Amino acid sequence: MNSYLLNHFAQQLDDLKQQGNLRQFSTNVQQSRFIRINEREMLNLASNDYLGLASNLQLREQFFDETPIAQRTMSSSSSRLLTGNFPEFEQLEASLSQAFAGRSALLFNSGYHMNIGILPALADTKTLILADKLVHASMIDGMRLSTAKFLRYRHNDLLHLEQLLSKHHDSNDIERIIVVTESIFSMDGDETDLAALVQLKQQFSKVMLYVDEAHAIGVRGERGLGCAEQYDVIEQIDLLVGTFGKALASVGGYLICYPILRDYLINTMRPLIFSTAQPPICMAWTNFIFQRVMSLKQPRADLMTLSQSLQQGVRAKGFECPSSSHIVPVIIGDSAKTVAKAQVLQEAGFYIMPVRPPTVPKQSARLRISLTAQIQPAELDQLLQLV
Ligand SMILES: *Cc1c(COP(=O)(O)O)cnc(C)c1O
Repeated sequence: MNSYLLNHFAQQLDDLKQQGNLRQFSTNVQQSRFIRINEREMLNLASNDYLGLASNLQLREQFFDETPIAQRTMSSSSSRLLTGNFPEFEQLEASLSQAFAGRSALLFNSGYHMNIGILPALADTKTLILADKLVHASMIDGMRLSTAKFLRYRHNDLLHLEQLLSKHHDSNDIERIIVVTESIFSMDGDETDLAALVQLKQQFSKVMLYVDEAHAIGVRGERGLGCAEQYDVIEQIDLLVGTFGKALASVGGYLICYPILRDYLINTMRPLIFSTAQPPICMAWTNFIFQRVMSLKQPRADLMTLSQSLQQGVRAKGFECPSSSHIVPVIIGDSAKTVAKAQVLQEAGFYIMPVRPPTVPKQSARLRISLTAQIQPAELDQLLQLV
């Protein structure tokens, strides 16, 4: 390749570096609630392993003990529509279905595949998508890949959503409206009022509700089925999605929906049709974890207690903190100050990542603290003294 061609990309990387926005991998070694990076051992406050299940060695041992080699199938070798539909997929879907009030369940290779696949499959030019301003990049990519018109409503502003619904609902060009949101948001750690959202939806006949529970599955509700369970709206959310990659200590995405939509997606959703399905052993592991997660009330309660005490501590220090969950931002504002603070905290043994614009709005750079049930209250006290 001509070096001129490479120079273009080298220049772009230089620009990123100049702006302090260059992204790089760093190798890490994790053990229980600690993480080691560049020889420094730190308390891991950037983990999505909210219940500590991914780092639990006993669980792993138990899983392999009860799964003979013959059943440890490491590749599905094909899409589920060809020869990839191993019994493990149907077992996991049956478990989900049973847990979620008998509704249909469909699995995906990841939450990202799920969100970039479902929206383009369901939404056509007669569809309007209305999405919360802060939804995850995967849903934004899904909207962009679709042929639908889409608009964003102000973050968590159901009045704004209602105005948009009133304005567009009776338009002749629009046959369906899909309202897209998360339950717990990944950067602010705040929540959608799902009960109010469901009530609003019920006033508009063309609306389908799409809720991503990536940060709530495993963590919220009596059985850990998410905010939808907590607020008793499992059956009112038309498309209830989430990931197995966070609290569920595995990999993959799931959808809870109507049987007709499941059949429709199997026929139309490109990431489902044209990609090799997950290894069956991953499905078996997800099912193993899912069965246990439902009874993990104590870790869920511990995580809630830790979260509330950190939110209060951060506010007591004078910081703005919108969180009502285990994701607790400390909003500092200035990017350089935020990066410097994260550096100081890491040197003191707390692995916390700074998040800057454009990932978050201008002048809202923050430390993003993500708690797991294994963190000790005393460790948070130490942290709060340094924040
Ligand atoms: C992490 C995340 C995803 C992506 O899920 P993966 O399984 O990691 O691909 C989707 N939506 C939200 C809201 C997320 O936080």
